[in-house]
Amino acid sequence: MLAKEESHPRYRSLVLTLMLLLGALSFLHARSSASDAIPVLCFHYFSNKADSADNLTDTYERFEILTQYLSQNGYESCFPAEIQQHDRRPEKPVILTFDDGDKSQLRAARIMDRYGFKGLFFIIPARTRDSTEKSFTKSEVLWLAERGHRIGAHGYEHQSMVDSVRELKRSLNESQPFLKTLLGEKQKGVEDFAFPFGYYDDRTAEKMQQAFKFLYTVNPGYWDGTSVLIPRMLLSGRKDMEFYYHYLERSDDYRPALAPVTRDGAKSDVVKLRRTDNIPADKIRLFSVSPDTSGTMYVSHPLGSSLQARDDTLIIDLKTHLERCYAPQRSAISYALVQRTGDRIEYLSNGLLNWIEKEPGSEALYK
Ligand SMILES: [Zn+2]
Repeated sequence: MLAKEESHPRYRSLVLTLMLLLGALSFLHARSSASDAIPVLCFHYFSNKADSADNLTDTYERFEILTQYLSQNGYESCFPAEIQQHDRRPEKPVILTFDDGDKSQLRAARIMDRYGFKGLFFIIPARTRDSTEKSFTKSEVLWLAERGHRIGAHGYEHQSMVDSVRELKRSLNESQPFLKTLLGEKQKGVEDFAFPFGYYDDRTAEKMQQAFKFLYTVNPGYWDGTSVLIPRMLLSGRKDMEFYYHYLERSDDYRPALAPVTRDGAKSDVVKLRRTDNIPADKIRLFSVSPDTSGTMYVSHPLGSSLQARDDTLIIDLKTHLERCYAPQRSAISYALVQRTGDRIEYLSNGLLNWIEKEPGSEALYK
Protein backbone atom coordinates (compact mmCIF):
# COMPACT_ATOMS: atom_id res chain seq x y z
CA MET A 1 0.00 0.00 0.00
CA LEU A 2 2.80 2.33 0.84
CA ALA A 3 4.64 1.58 -2.37
CA LYS A 4 1.49 2.20 -4.33
CA GLU A 5 0.82 5.52 -2.72
CA GLU A 6 4.36 6.65 -3.12
CA SER A 7 4.61 5.65 -6.74
CA HIS A 8 1.78 7.99 -7.68
CA PRO A 9 2.81 10.69 -10.10
CA ARG A 10 3.51 13.94 -8.31
CA TYR A 11 0.26 15.53 -9.37
CA ARG A 12 -1.68 12.70 -7.78
CA SER A 13 0.08 13.40 -4.52
CA LEU A 14 -0.83 17.02 -4.94
CA VAL A 15 -4.46 16.18 -5.52
CA LEU A 16 -4.34 14.04 -2.40
CA THR A 17 -2.80 16.88 -0.45
CA LEU A 18 -5.42 19.34 -1.62
CA MET A 19 -8.19 16.87 -0.94
CA LEU A 20 -6.90 16.23 2.54
CA LEU A 21 -6.26 19.79 3.45
CA LEU A 22 -9.27 21.37 1.80
CA GLY A 23 -11.45 18.64 3.20
CA ALA A 24 -9.99 19.23 6.60
CA LEU A 25 -10.42 22.96 6.39
CA SER A 26 -13.95 23.02 5.07
CA PHE A 27 -15.34 20.56 7.56
CA LEU A 28 -14.64 22.23 10.85
CA HIS A 29 -17.14 24.07 12.99
CA ALA A 30 -16.76 27.48 14.54
CA ARG A 31 -15.41 27.34 18.06
CA SER A 32 -12.22 29.34 18.55
CA SER A 33 -11.67 33.03 18.12
CA ALA A 34 -9.23 34.32 15.53
CA SER A 35 -6.79 35.30 18.24
CA ASP A 36 -5.92 31.73 19.10
CA ALA A 37 -5.80 30.49 15.52
CA ILE A 38 -3.46 32.83 13.71
CA PRO A 39 -2.59 31.79 10.14
CA VAL A 40 1.13 31.58 9.45
CA LEU A 41 2.19 31.33 5.81
CA CYS A 42 5.57 30.01 4.72
CA PHE A 43 7.06 30.92 1.32
CA HIS A 44 10.33 29.95 -0.26
CA TYR A 45 11.09 31.01 -3.84
CA PHE A 46 9.43 33.16 -6.47
CA SER A 47 9.63 33.30 -10.23
CA ASN A 48 7.85 34.95 -13.15
CA LYS A 49 6.56 31.61 -14.37
CA ALA A 50 5.40 28.70 -12.24
CA ASP A 51 8.25 26.25 -12.20
CA SER A 52 6.71 22.82 -12.32
CA ALA A 53 9.98 21.19 -11.33
CA ASP A 54 10.12 22.94 -7.99
CA ASN A 55 7.51 22.43 -5.37
CA LEU A 56 8.54 25.40 -3.29
CA THR A 57 8.28 28.11 -5.92
CA ASP A 58 5.36 30.43 -6.51
CA THR A 59 4.93 33.25 -8.99
CA TYR A 60 5.10 36.96 -8.22
CA GLU A 61 1.74 37.35 -9.87
CA ARG A 62 0.06 34.93 -7.50
CA PHE A 63 1.86 36.47 -4.55
CA GLU A 64 0.47 39.85 -5.51
CA ILE A 65 -3.03 38.38 -5.89
CA LEU A 66 -2.70 36.92 -2.39
CA THR A 67 -1.43 40.21 -1.00
CA GLN A 68 -4.39 42.02 -2.55
CA TYR A 69 -6.71 39.42 -1.07
CA LEU A 70 -5.21 39.94 2.39
CA SER A 71 -5.51 43.68 2.02
CA GLN A 72 -9.09 43.65 0.74
CA ASN A 73 -10.21 41.25 3.43
CA GLY A 74 -8.87 43.27 6.32
CA TYR A 75 -5.84 41.19 7.24
CA GLU A 76 -2.89 42.83 8.92
CA SER A 77 0.53 41.26 9.09
CA CYS A 78 2.17 41.02 12.48
CA PHE A 79 5.03 39.33 14.29
CA PRO A 80 4.68 36.85 17.14
CA ALA A 81 6.58 39.11 19.54
CA GLU A 82 3.98 41.87 19.02
CA ILE A 83 1.15 39.46 19.76
CA GLN A 84 2.80 37.98 22.81
CA GLN A 85 3.77 41.31 24.33
CA HIS A 86 0.29 42.65 23.54
CA ASP A 87 1.95 45.47 21.62
CA ARG A 88 -0.40 44.92 18.75
CA ARG A 89 -3.33 42.66 18.24
CA PRO A 90 -4.81 43.12 14.77
CA GLU A 91 -8.40 42.02 14.36
CA LYS A 92 -7.38 39.71 11.51
CA PRO A 93 -3.74 38.85 12.02
CA VAL A 94 -1.58 36.97 9.56
CA ILE A 95 2.10 36.10 9.87
CA LEU A 96 4.01 36.04 6.56
CA THR A 97 7.28 34.12 6.65
CA PHE A 98 9.98 33.47 4.05
CA ASP A 99 12.66 30.79 4.32
CA ASP A 100 16.18 30.43 2.93
CA GLY A 101 17.00 34.10 2.23
CA ASP A 102 16.59 33.75 -1.52
CA LYS A 103 17.05 36.86 -3.67
CA SER A 104 13.71 36.26 -5.38
CA GLN A 105 12.05 37.25 -2.11
CA LEU A 106 13.21 40.86 -2.50
CA ARG A 107 10.59 41.52 -5.13
CA ALA A 108 7.99 39.86 -2.91
CA ALA A 109 9.07 42.32 -0.19
CA ARG A 110 8.47 45.23 -2.60
CA ILE A 111 4.99 43.86 -3.32
CA MET A 112 4.32 43.67 0.43
CA ASP A 113 5.63 47.22 0.87
CA ARG A 114 3.05 48.47 -1.62
CA TYR A 115 0.20 46.96 0.41
CA GLY A 116 1.61 47.76 3.84
CA PHE A 117 2.49 44.21 4.87
CA LYS A 118 5.59 43.13 6.74
CA GLY A 119 7.31 39.79 6.40
CA LEU A 120 9.53 37.69 8.59
CA PHE A 121 12.58 36.52 6.65
CA PHE A 122 14.55 33.52 7.85
CA ILE A 123 18.06 33.72 6.50
CA ILE A 124 20.90 31.22 6.50
CA PRO A 125 23.88 32.96 8.16
CA ALA A 126 26.55 30.86 6.40
CA ARG A 127 25.17 31.92 3.01
CA THR A 128 24.81 35.62 3.81
CA ARG A 129 27.89 37.40 2.52
CA ASP A 130 28.89 40.75 1.04
CA SER A 131 28.34 39.48 -2.44
CA THR A 132 26.24 36.45 -3.35
CA GLU A 133 24.54 35.02 -6.39
CA LYS A 134 21.41 33.39 -5.00
CA SER A 135 21.14 34.29 -1.32
CA PHE A 136 20.64 37.75 0.17
CA THR A 137 23.76 39.83 0.54
CA LYS A 138 24.32 41.48 3.90
CA SER A 139 23.14 44.80 2.52
CA GLU A 140 19.97 43.21 1.17
CA VAL A 141 19.21 41.89 4.65
CA LEU A 142 19.69 45.43 5.99
CA TRP A 143 17.47 46.80 3.23
CA LEU A 144 14.67 44.49 4.41
CA ALA A 145 15.13 45.44 8.07
CA GLU A 146 15.11 49.16 7.20
CA ARG A 147 11.70 48.72 5.60
CA GLY A 148 10.25 47.20 8.76
CA HIS A 149 10.50 43.55 7.81
CA ARG A 150 11.97 41.27 10.45
CA ILE A 151 14.90 38.94 10.21
CA GLY A 152 15.23 35.55 11.89
CA ALA A 153 17.70 32.69 11.63
CA HIS A 154 17.22 29.51 9.63
CA GLY A 155 19.89 27.23 11.11
CA TYR A 156 23.46 28.25 10.48
CA GLU A 157 24.42 26.23 7.41
CA HIS A 158 20.95 24.83 6.70
CA GLN A 159 21.59 21.26 7.79
CA SER A 160 19.19 19.09 9.72
CA MET A 161 19.72 19.92 13.38
CA VAL A 162 18.33 16.57 14.39
CA ASP A 163 21.22 14.86 12.61
CA SER A 164 24.06 17.32 12.82
CA VAL A 165 25.48 18.23 16.23
CA ARG A 166 27.62 20.84 14.48
CA GLU A 167 24.55 22.49 12.95
CA LEU A 168 22.77 22.46 16.29
CA LYS A 169 25.74 24.05 18.03
CA ARG A 170 26.36 26.68 15.38
CA SER A 171 22.63 27.51 15.17
CA LEU A 172 22.52 27.92 18.92
CA ASN A 173 25.80 29.76 19.46
CA GLU A 174 26.50 31.61 16.24
CA SER A 175 23.35 32.41 14.26
CA GLN A 176 21.95 34.95 16.70
CA PRO A 177 25.27 36.82 17.28
CA PHE A 178 25.77 36.85 13.50
CA LEU A 179 22.40 38.51 12.95
CA LYS A 180 22.75 40.91 15.88
CA THR A 181 26.09 42.11 14.55
CA LEU A 182 24.76 42.42 11.04
CA LEU A 183 21.53 44.18 11.98
CA GLY A 184 22.89 46.48 14.70
CA GLU A 185 20.38 49.23 15.43
CA LYS A 186 18.19 48.23 12.49
CA GLN A 187 16.38 45.52 14.48
CA LYS A 188 15.77 45.24 18.18
CA GLY A 189 16.49 41.65 19.20
CA VAL A 190 16.63 38.48 17.14
CA GLU A 191 14.05 36.14 18.57
CA ASP A 192 12.77 34.05 15.65
CA PHE A 193 14.27 30.77 14.49
CA ALA A 194 13.04 28.41 11.77
CA PHE A 195 14.27 24.81 11.81
CA PRO A 196 16.04 23.87 8.53
CA PHE A 197 13.68 21.52 6.63
CA GLY A 198 11.30 21.90 9.56
CA TYR A 199 13.11 19.02 11.28
CA TYR A 200 13.24 19.10 15.03
CA ASP A 201 12.74 16.94 18.05
CA ASP A 202 12.44 17.54 21.80
CA ARG A 203 16.16 17.98 22.26
CA THR A 204 16.66 20.50 19.46
CA ALA A 205 13.54 22.45 20.42
CA GLU A 206 14.65 22.67 24.04
CA LYS A 207 18.17 23.77 23.11
CA MET A 208 17.03 26.45 20.71
CA GLN A 209 14.71 27.93 23.32
CA GLN A 210 17.83 29.02 25.19
CA ALA A 211 18.47 31.60 22.48
CA PHE A 212 15.17 32.19 20.66
CA LYS A 213 11.65 33.00 21.80
CA PHE A 214 9.85 31.55 18.79
CA LEU A 215 10.63 28.36 16.91
CA TYR A 216 9.00 27.85 13.51
CA THR A 217 8.11 24.44 12.11
CA VAL A 218 6.44 23.46 8.85
CA ASN A 219 3.74 21.53 10.65
CA PRO A 220 0.53 22.78 9.03
CA GLY A 221 -1.72 24.53 11.49
CA TYR A 222 -2.38 27.85 13.17
CA TRP A 223 -0.49 29.59 15.92
CA ASP A 224 -2.34 29.82 19.23
CA GLY A 225 -0.65 33.14 20.08
CA THR A 226 1.37 31.74 22.98
CA SER A 227 3.26 28.55 22.05
CA VAL A 228 6.99 28.61 21.45
CA LEU A 229 6.58 26.21 18.52
CA ILE A 230 4.81 27.96 15.67
CA PRO A 231 3.17 25.84 12.94
CA ARG A 232 3.26 27.17 9.40
CA MET A 233 1.41 26.36 6.21
CA LEU A 234 3.92 25.62 3.49
CA LEU A 235 2.87 27.25 0.23
CA SER A 236 3.88 26.83 -3.36
CA GLY A 237 2.70 27.50 -6.88
CA ARG A 238 1.39 23.95 -7.00
CA LYS A 239 -1.40 24.79 -4.62
CA ASP A 240 -4.55 26.34 -5.97
CA MET A 241 -5.19 29.91 -4.78
CA GLU A 242 -8.38 28.62 -3.18
CA PHE A 243 -6.18 26.57 -0.90
CA TYR A 244 -4.57 29.75 0.38
CA TYR A 245 -7.94 31.40 0.97
CA HIS A 246 -9.41 28.37 2.71
CA TYR A 247 -6.45 28.19 5.02
CA LEU A 248 -6.74 31.88 5.83
CA GLU A 249 -10.50 32.06 6.21
CA ARG A 250 -11.14 28.88 8.08
CA SER A 251 -8.89 29.75 10.94
CA ASP A 252 -11.84 30.98 12.99
CA ASP A 253 -13.27 27.50 12.77
CA TYR A 254 -10.18 25.63 13.67
CA ARG A 255 -10.44 23.40 16.67
CA PRO A 256 -8.72 20.09 17.11
CA ALA A 257 -10.88 17.27 18.42
CA LEU A 258 -7.90 15.63 20.05
CA ALA A 259 -5.39 17.10 22.44
CA PRO A 260 -1.91 15.59 22.47
CA VAL A 261 -1.05 14.19 25.88
CA THR A 262 2.59 14.29 24.83
CA ARG A 263 3.52 17.68 23.51
CA ASP A 264 4.13 18.63 19.89
CA GLY A 265 7.55 17.44 18.83
CA ALA A 266 7.74 14.64 21.39
CA LYS A 267 9.84 11.70 20.41
CA SER A 268 8.32 8.50 21.65
CA ASP A 269 7.22 5.11 20.41
CA VAL A 270 3.75 5.72 21.74
CA VAL A 271 1.66 8.82 21.22
CA LYS A 272 -1.38 9.48 23.35
CA LEU A 273 -4.18 11.84 22.46
CA ARG A 274 -7.10 12.78 24.63
CA ARG A 275 -10.42 13.17 22.92
CA THR A 276 -12.12 16.50 23.42
CA ASP A 277 -15.16 15.83 21.27
CA ASN A 278 -18.02 13.35 21.21
CA ILE A 279 -17.45 11.85 17.81
CA PRO A 280 -18.97 8.35 17.78
CA ALA A 281 -16.15 5.82 17.89
CA ASP A 282 -17.44 4.00 14.81
CA LYS A 283 -17.12 7.22 12.78
CA ILE A 284 -13.44 7.56 13.49
CA ARG A 285 -10.88 6.16 11.13
CA LEU A 286 -7.53 7.61 11.86
CA PHE A 287 -4.87 8.19 9.28
CA SER A 288 -1.42 9.51 9.72
CA VAL A 289 -0.47 12.19 7.21
CA SER A 290 3.13 13.04 6.67
CA PRO A 291 5.15 15.13 4.25
CA ASP A 292 7.48 13.26 1.94
CA THR A 293 11.22 13.53 2.51
CA SER A 294 11.36 16.91 0.77
CA GLY A 295 8.71 18.15 3.19
CA THR A 296 6.50 19.42 0.42
CA MET A 297 3.94 16.75 -0.38
CA TYR A 298 1.83 14.51 1.76
CA VAL A 299 1.00 10.87 1.92
CA SER A 300 -1.54 9.28 4.24
CA HIS A 301 -1.72 5.89 5.88
CA PRO A 302 -4.55 4.32 7.89
CA LEU A 303 -3.47 3.62 11.46
CA GLY A 304 -5.38 0.33 11.61
CA SER A 305 -4.31 -1.89 14.47
CA SER A 306 -1.64 0.62 15.53
CA LEU A 307 -4.47 2.61 17.10
CA GLN A 308 -6.21 1.65 20.34
CA ALA A 309 -8.90 3.54 22.19
CA ARG A 310 -9.12 3.49 25.96
CA ASP A 311 -11.91 5.63 27.39
CA ASP A 312 -11.22 9.16 26.18
CA THR A 313 -7.62 8.46 25.23
CA LEU A 314 -6.34 7.26 21.88
CA ILE A 315 -3.06 5.41 21.98
CA ILE A 316 -0.99 5.07 18.84
CA ASP A 317 1.84 2.62 18.57
CA LEU A 318 4.01 4.67 16.27
CA LYS A 319 6.87 2.24 16.10
CA THR A 320 4.71 -0.49 14.61
CA HIS A 321 2.96 2.00 12.39
CA LEU A 322 6.19 3.39 11.02
CA GLU A 323 7.65 -0.05 10.46
CA ARG A 324 4.53 -1.09 8.63
CA CYS A 325 3.90 2.00 6.54
CA TYR A 326 7.08 3.87 5.83
CA ALA A 327 10.06 3.09 3.71
CA PRO A 328 13.08 2.26 5.90
CA GLN A 329 15.20 4.98 4.31
CA ARG A 330 12.75 7.57 5.52
CA SER A 331 14.25 9.04 8.63
CA ALA A 332 12.22 12.13 9.34
CA ILE A 333 8.50 11.87 9.59
CA SER A 334 5.95 14.38 10.64
CA TYR A 335 2.40 13.29 10.81
CA ALA A 336 -1.07 14.56 11.55
CA LEU A 337 -4.08 12.65 12.66
CA VAL A 338 -7.16 13.10 10.58
CA GLN A 339 -10.63 11.68 10.70
CA ARG A 340 -12.38 10.51 7.58
CA THR A 341 -16.15 10.69 7.30
CA GLY A 342 -17.16 9.68 3.81
CA ASP A 343 -15.04 11.83 1.50
CA ARG A 344 -14.29 14.37 4.13
CA ILE A 345 -11.13 14.47 6.12
CA GLU A 346 -10.72 16.54 9.22
CA TYR A 347 -7.59 17.27 11.19
CA LEU A 348 -7.77 15.88 14.69
CA SER A 349 -4.36 16.89 15.90
CA ASN A 350 -3.25 20.46 16.30
CA GLY A 351 -1.28 20.74 13.10
CA LEU A 352 1.12 17.94 12.45
CA LEU A 353 2.45 16.11 15.43
CA ASN A 354 6.09 15.46 15.00
CA TRP A 355 7.96 12.24 15.00
CA ILE A 356 11.54 11.90 13.95
CA GLU A 357 13.35 8.63 13.74
CA LYS A 358 16.86 8.23 12.54
CA GLU A 359 17.85 5.15 10.61
CA PRO A 360 21.48 4.18 9.98
CA GLY A 361 22.86 5.52 6.71
CA SER A 362 20.09 8.05 6.24
CA GLU A 363 22.24 11.17 6.35
CA ALA A 364 22.00 11.53 2.59
CA LEU A 365 18.38 12.60 2.95
CA TYR A 366 19.41 15.85 4.47
CA LYS A 367 22.09 16.92 2.05
ZN1 LIG B 1 15.03 26.05 4.38
